[in-house]
Amino acid sequence: MNFDSLGLSAPILEAVAEEGYETPSPIQGKAIPAVLEGRDVMAAAQTGTGKTAGFTLPILELLSRGERAGPNQARALILTPTRELAAQVGDNVRSYSRHLPLTSAIVYGGVKINPQMMRMRRGADVLIATPGRLLDLYNQNAVRFKHLEVLVLDEADRMLDMGFIHDIKKILNILPERRQNLMFSATFSDQIRTLAKSLVNDPVEISV
Ligand code: AMP
Repeated sequence: MNFDSLGLSAPILEAVAEEGYETPSPIQGKAIPAVLEGRDVMAAAQTGTGKTAGFTLPILELLSRGERAGPNQARALILTPTRELAAQVGDNVRSYSRHLPLTSAIVYGGVKINPQMMRMRRGADVLIATPGRLLDLYNQNAVRFKHLEVLVLDEADRMLDMGFIHDIKKILNILPERRQNLMFSATFSDQIRTLAKSLVNDPVEISV
């Protein structure tokens, strides 16, 4: 299998080639076509499997076909448990979108909120966030989800371990109901399956 056969367009394939990726990893081979079809996805995948590109590349492809985010809007939301992971996912998003007219922003707690509020005035096609800071920004009216198309829960098991379940539930309540949902977790415990029930709709299940 190669990246050309997955349904990604030239600007993304070019960025992938520049990263030096030659063949899609197993999770990428399964997740990319499913996301491009608009399906919800529930994937069991550890770090190191290439899961980040597995959800980021098709999301960028879908977003590249629509209108850019307006002020304070986010079109794709990627939730991560830690600021390190948010920063890392954000770096990947930036690299993979370098030939596309898409914008991204990374927000997490433990730093001043004002610069993040200022940044959100321009909107972000892809917003990468930790749950608590996202809610703070939402409560300050700095983030709006009217045009949200895709939600990703990355490392969902770690989010639950870190006690983010209430924040996640609050976030789910403020998102538009019609949206695509992708959930990635290293393990699928009962608790994760319960969360999945309230999150994903007829998902494509992937394990690698
Ligand atoms: P992740 O599992 O998303 O944390 O990715 C692990 C590492 O694999 C990252 O450093 C990626 O840059 C790299 N990577 C992702 N996809 C591929 C691929 N198809 N070929 C080679 N390296 C990749």
